[in-house]
Amino acid sequence: MTIVAPTEPVLAGRLGEIINRATELYEDLDFKAVLDWKAKDKTRRAIGFLPVYVPREVIHAAGGLPVGIMGGGDMTEIVRGDSYFQSYICHLPRSVIELLVNGRLDAMDGFLFPSICDVIRNLSGMFKLLKPDRYVHYFDLPQNFQGNLGGRFYVHEMKSVATAVSGMTGNAVSDDRLRESIRVYNANRKAMAAMLDLRIEKPWLVPAMEYYLMLRAGYLLPVEEHTVMLNEYTELVQKSDRRPLDNIRVMVRGAFCEQPPLALLRTLERAGCYLVDDDFVVGARFTPKPIPETGDPWEALADAFMNHSLPTASKYDQKHEKAKLLVDRVREVRADGVLLMAPSFCDPALLDQPMLQSALEKAGIPFTSFKYSEDTGQFQVIREQAGTFADAIKLWGIV
Ligand code: SF4
Repeated sequence: MTIVAPTEPVLAGRLGEIINRATELYEDLDFKAVLDWKAKDKTRRAIGFLPVYVPREVIHAAGGLPVGIMGGGDMTEIVRGDSYFQSYICHLPRSVIELLVNGRLDAMDGFLFPSICDVIRNLSGMFKLLKPDRYVHYFDLPQNFQGNLGGRFYVHEMKSVATAVSGMTGNAVSDDRLRESIRVYNANRKAMAAMLDLRIEKPWLVPAMEYYLMLRAGYLLPVEEHTVMLNEYTELVQKSDRRPLDNIRVMVRGAFCEQPPLALLRTLERAGCYLVDDDFVVGARFTPKPIPETGDPWEALADAFMNHSLPTASKYDQKHEKAKLLVDRVREVRADGVLLMAPSFCDPALLDQPMLQSALEKAGIPFTSFKYSEDTGQFQVIREQAGTFADAIKLWGIV
């Protein structure tokens, strides 16, 4: 038997409209939403960014639209993308190149490639060769988290982006403009936190697919619009008549860059797992606490990245606390177990995995691991594995 993408129940009313809109955005690989946004004002510019994190506040303050480029998922047939890469790397760069050579990224006026791994570094080089007329910047992140060293370096990097985007839009990034952008993104953080908290408390109200679509919508919509969408969604699901199921509570780690196909999330839930915490689209909430809206805004952003951002395999772990933070988070969200799901050939995720497994073993926390790629289409093995994991925890509390 072959298990294919499960279908979702049709949602009616305003909640259905919101989910449908988010689904449209998720499937919008031609970035029509971005083209529509640009068509309203000829001076508007869109800056695409690759996973995991860029300070979107800086692009916003320059009058640009930060747009997350998360690959082609399972909706892109790779024809030319494969010829640019060797076979033993992850899938994301192939689909991103496919989008580029097919003109589907033409809505972008520039591209930022955060320094997370060699694959992204090489991809930025290809963009430079293939799109010499576009702004392409390898966004270097600090490896030293002292304010007067890594902090100064990071501020310099952010100012370099601000100068480039301002050059396109004609809007200089003053401190006041940047503080205002921080304020706007803080409102988005608050709305995001409300949805995340609700999912931890009542995961049956916020199914994984809907939650994921809400996250992804934030990578295409202007932030102000996304905040309204999040708030409305969180309010409406609390009024819904969704009922809890006999599922276990699991936390997901490893999916911070190349994203799992949507149907895989639904498969995990159907296998008996409520996803109460994860690192999907983690750049959307990488600095979860409010960032100060007074004082030096550049230093505030640098401090948020260096001292208050979430742990992830692609970020330098200067204090060697990633394993402890993982165990602490399991306790905090009351997870019964952890799914270590990483993209195939993802060096950062797979290099971290033994260390995370060891920490979970020592803490007596059940876990299971598997790999996926963004275009995985067969879910039977994963469903059986996740289902067995859930059953074992329900029956014995261990695996
Ligand atoms: S999936 Fe992993 S290896 Fe591939 S680009 Fe992302 S971080 Fe790098």
